[in-house]
Amino acid sequence: MTDRPFASLEEKLAFQIARQGPLSLAAYMHACLADPQFGYYSKRQGIGESADFITAPEISQMFGELIGGWCVAAWQQLGRPDPFCLAEFGPGRGTLMADLLRAAKKAEGFTKAAHLVLVETSPLMREHQKAALQKWKNALGGFEWADHISALPGMPLVAVANEFLDALPFRQYIKAENGWREAGIAANDAGKLIRVTLPCLADPAILPDGADDQPPGAVFEHAPAREAVVEEVATRLMDHEGAALFIDYGHTASGFGDTFQAVRHHGYTGPLAEPGAHDVTSHVDFARLVAAANRTGLPPAALASQSDFLIELGLLERAGALGHGKSAAVQETLRRQVERLAGADQMGGLFKVLRITNPVLALPGHGKALSAPSA
Ligand code: SAH
Repeated sequence: MTDRPFASLEEKLAFQIARQGPLSLAAYMHACLADPQFGYYSKRQGIGESADFITAPEISQMFGELIGGWCVAAWQQLGRPDPFCLAEFGPGRGTLMADLLRAAKKAEGFTKAAHLVLVETSPLMREHQKAALQKWKNALGGFEWADHISALPGMPLVAVANEFLDALPFRQYIKAENGWREAGIAANDAGKLIRVTLPCLADPAILPDGADDQPPGAVFEHAPAREAVVEEVATRLMDHEGAALFIDYGHTASGFGDTFQAVRHHGYTGPLAEPGAHDVTSHVDFARLVAAANRTGLPPAALASQSDFLIELGLLERAGALGHGKSAAVQETLRRQVERLAGADQMGGLFKVLRITNPVLALPGHGKALSAPSA
């Protein structure tokens, strides 16, 4: 099937659906992002002010620097292991890691002890990361890429992931007359992709409280791939010790609603329009991630808003230091960056920071914990 030439991903998927039946949203999303020929992350570098979407490290160097300080604190409290694995999942353009390493350089021994692993599946993104991080190669204890978290070396781990989980596939279920049914993607006679409800019924175990009371048409989203990543990292921390941060947009309590979205040129578009041309994502259900981490037996996971997290790490002080003695224009730029990263009505409120550690560490950033009822 794959050796047949297709003009677009839509054509390829319609061909596949005609032979094999409708796709789950998870299969559709995976094709949109990772298809080797047409997938978004395979052919387009969409991160940045002039591209499709902007992420926190691209807004300001302060984001990566503060996370660098957090990583140093984690490493020191773990007893300065040498070697240790410093990992980033889904590093994008490599900006966060470059800022992190620059800030962490001041901590004696950190860089040399760090065996850096970038978990990245896109060859195109790897090229960007190489350009941003090449200069660190000799200073670090090690530097490599991995396709999957399972390939991380067996060492104490300090890991960060910003907007990685939202890029992993999720499933949707729709309340029908006779229960919750999985949402899917089919193709009409003209080869256009359409949303359909599949015959498969949801496993009642995945449905949150209140599911029975939802009206027909209500939507529930479930992302086992995201839970599996957090569980795998948590299990690794059980075996080797360490600390990990997962930062993403999403909600602290499992709920109902359709958050399937496609983004291009900083605007939203329908997720079925031009598959592969847009970044397709959905909001992250942090309650389920907290539950996934906690069921491994790890010390309890902590959740904070990005706003509280960054302010506790010293965002305002860092902005003050960077702006000290600088022009009014520079100071205004820094003020705007702080507002975008930490403003409650901007990233600060929508984005959450999940922290998992083993053993319990006294790390800054989670002093104001958000409640995250277990799913
Ligand atoms: N962390 C970066 C980039 C976020 S975009 C930032 O904040 O700017 C998502 C990143 O995850 C991209 O680098 C993408 O190529 C990568 N990615 C997506 N799916 C992945 C997967 N299954 N495994 C590893 N990396 C993945």
